[in-house]
Amino acid sequence: MKSKSSIRLFCALVAALLVVPLTATAQVDPYDADPLGLLAFTDQARVYASGTDVIEVFVCDVPDGAIAVDLTSTVAQINAAVQPYYTWLSGGVYLPQFVPGGTITASNPSGWPDLIAFQTECESLAAANAGGSAAGALVIVDAAYSGGYATAGVACEDTFDCPTTFPDNGRIMVVGATTVVPSAGLPDARLTTIAHELGHTLEFPHSYGGLTKFINGVTYEYDNPMDIMSGGSLTVLDVGTIAINRYAAGWLPSATVFHRGYTAEYQLSSLGTTGRQMLVLPTDIQGVFTMIGARSASGYDAGIVSEGIEVYQIDQRGPACGAEIDFICWGADRRTTPVPAIDDPESAVHVFGVGESFPVGGALVRVDSESNGRWTLTVTGSTVSERFIDDNGNIHEANISAIASLGVTLGCNPPLNSRFCPDAPVTRAEMAVFLSRALGDAVEPTTGLGVFADVAPNVWYTNAIARMVELGIATGYTDGTYRPNAPVSRGEMAVFLDRAFDAIAPIGDLTAFVDVPFDAFYAPATDALYDSGVTLGCETDPLSFCPLDAVSRAEMASFLARVLAQP
Ligand SMILES: [Zn+2]
Repeated sequence: MKSKSSIRLFCALVAALLVVPLTATAQVDPYDADPLGLLAFTDQARVYASGTDVIEVFVCDVPDGAIAVDLTSTVAQINAAVQPYYTWLSGGVYLPQFVPGGTITASNPSGWPDLIAFQTECESLAAANAGGSAAGALVIVDAAYSGGYATAGVACEDTFDCPTTFPDNGRIMVVGATTVVPSAGLPDARLTTIAHELGHTLEFPHSYGGLTKFINGVTYEYDNPMDIMSGGSLTVLDVGTIAINRYAAGWLPSATVFHRGYTAEYQLSSLGTTGRQMLVLPTDIQGVFTMIGARSASGYDAGIVSEGIEVYQIDQRGPACGAEIDFICWGADRRTTPVPAIDDPESAVHVFGVGESFPVGGALVRVDSESNGRWTLTVTGSTVSERFIDDNGNIHEANISAIASLGVTLGCNPPLNSRFCPDAPVTRAEMAVFLSRALGDAVEPTTGLGVFADVAPNVWYTNAIARMVELGIATGYTDGTYRPNAPVSRGEMAVFLDRAFDAIAPIGDLTAFVDVPFDAFYAPATDALYDSGVTLGCETDPLSFCPLDAVSRAEMASFLARVLAQP
């Protein structure tokens, strides 16, 4: 069940990019197509992964093959098994449809059992006999073996605008006849092979066991019983595929969530159910991350070896895929390794059940509970050291990291949250959320809800603003509005902070900021902030506070980090 052709295609692609660095192709950011920045060229990987995907089926007679494969009934048999399986796997997004192509006859004179020569000739005959409108081809070689291989038909060498029909796209699966006809050694047809090869044509890779193992001289890639793209089940379609493959295909029903370093609880739904199905623990390196999914023994996952939380390290840097060049690998070349690595190629179990916990980098993941296929996890700590990519060198960077580690900020580009947006002004809604988190205030709001006409119920800042009202920190405007999207001035921020934290208190006479009038409503608060060391002013000579300037998110981080550092 190899996908060698796909790997060959990939290597050709890389060579083209390296020798012609100034072409339009070379300018492509491989992560552009994925809003979450997780996988390279997701637009290519998803070309065939939604809607009806028509696959033309050919039976290839070979001399001495001797297995009678009836094309019409075989196509019906494949559709009956593989269509409902992929409908389940994709949440109804993807429907493979196998249609009869024809019977072709190979005549390679080198003779059976020269399997490779016959397969190559069968591929050529399928291309020559193709109708021209199908998205791919399946060739069943009329010989007694149950393996196969596939080519994805994406990643064209010199353009990403690939043809999408067979034979132009080269998208083909080749399998032996005992995948569809029971044989003496195999009492059941191995339709799982066809489902597996179809996965390869959607750019699904094998999930390697994680330890370097060689069997008969090749790396062993079929040791994961949780994945039809690896060990899976040999004869029955009762194992799905891991979450990252479903993400790559665009099949996950809800947005993937990122953990970026604080204590947080997550719920993950099992394959085959609605709800979020993947959690990502990022690293500082793009293309390297840990994915976590949930699996329950239900539906087509009835055959999994153990229920629980699946964990995989994803590495798509070139060297991870065996290339000696520093470039991404993708799709069928993505390195997908279970955590912990599998030690026993024949009896691997690596899911985590309720009560178990495991480290990932600097974080600890604990499986708390399960109910109706929905698993609850708690993640503590961080898998990233460089929390945000846009605060490097900022004078507030240490304070931004400090409030991030305390969970006061999550980032500004959810769900990835790789950025902090340090120069963006703090809005009144953000201010309420920052203060609410900084206060560690876990009380559910009651009387503060519904106070303001312009604060919608059940949005990300509703509860925080309600608590600001209940705690007397925010009062809103006289016209009954809160103006959540309005920026906060430094003078206003001083008042909010002074009300929120007891540690902010004045000492002695009013501080003589040259730009703070003694009778300004924020003058006592700016004085208290300065006396408490929470602000250093915006200039020291002459001492100024810039009370009318908007507060940037970076400045907000320093205000909060300093006040939270007070005893
Ligand atoms: Zn394979």
